[in-house]
Amino acid sequence: MPELALLEEVVDKVRPLLGQGKVADYIPALASVDAGKLGIAVTTVDGETLGAGDYLEPFSIQSISKVFSLTLALTLYEEAEIWSRVGKEPSGHSFNSLVQVELERGKPRNPFINAGALVIADLLQSRLGAPKHRMLELVRQLSQNDKVCFDKQVADSEYQHSARNAAIAYLMKSFGNFQGDVDTVLRTYFHYCALKMNCADLSKAMLYLANRGKTLDGIELISQVQTRQLNALLATSGLYDGAGEFAYRVGMPGKSGVGGGIIAVIPGELSICVWSPELDGNGNSLAGTAMLEHLSQRLGRSIF
Ligand code: GLN
Repeated sequence: MPELALLEEVVDKVRPLLGQGKVADYIPALASVDAGKLGIAVTTVDGETLGAGDYLEPFSIQSISKVFSLTLALTLYEEAEIWSRVGKEPSGHSFNSLVQVELERGKPRNPFINAGALVIADLLQSRLGAPKHRMLELVRQLSQNDKVCFDKQVADSEYQHSARNAAIAYLMKSFGNFQGDVDTVLRTYFHYCALKMNCADLSKAMLYLANRGKTLDGIELISQVQTRQLNALLATSGLYDGAGEFAYRVGMPGKSGVGGGIIAVIPGELSICVWSPELDGNGNSLAGTAMLEHLSQRLGRSIF
């Protein structure tokens, strides 16, 4: 376990970067977030959690939820069914791009861009009676926190500004790669994005990625092989168009969200969550990436 002093050092180290990024402003509920927040939490495979800065303050997890939805799909579907509808390649386009969906006949590049996550939400919607409730159950169990909930204001705000995601879903439907009612699936997807969690919750919840598929309470959520595969996808596609830069600087599988959170793992050792709302040009937390970079250097860890 890294010492608390190291986590505090990481937070202090990146404080000068505040002001250099831009808080997500595509919905008012996110634009009003305090830009000066910095938090980090780490959970080890021994089950210990430690945090520094604003690590107990909940934020909108946004696209980090795409890891939970793919995981849930892996527990419900044969893998071939999932991968016949979504690819495993980095996209090279922005996370909400329609271009590739059109060019590649409705099959999204990977499950971590919006198009891919919408297909996964469609899969969940068609298999589960109550997909929103099931997700809440899962993340509460994984984070061992019954207070985790959806931020209704964020979910509603996403829905009121849903034109682009709706366009992506309809485009996929036109190619036959979307089964459910678009509006219903969008609502489910927006609720997943609107999950409100803090760094401690998320570092605990993601422990299975560092622990061969085993959750904090020792349950095998997905297999060891599936965990390795999921980490490979996170390393190649978890940071959108910034995946190469992130691999270069941080060297860990990770997933970002436009709420400013990033989760990352050192397989076999620990899971990490950082949060700072200001984003870089690819929609990834600017100071969050710098926190992970500093931590990986100080720990001398990289998967490469
Ligand atoms: N709710 C956002 C969207 O669908 C999530 C995007 C993100 O975090 N990158 O556009």
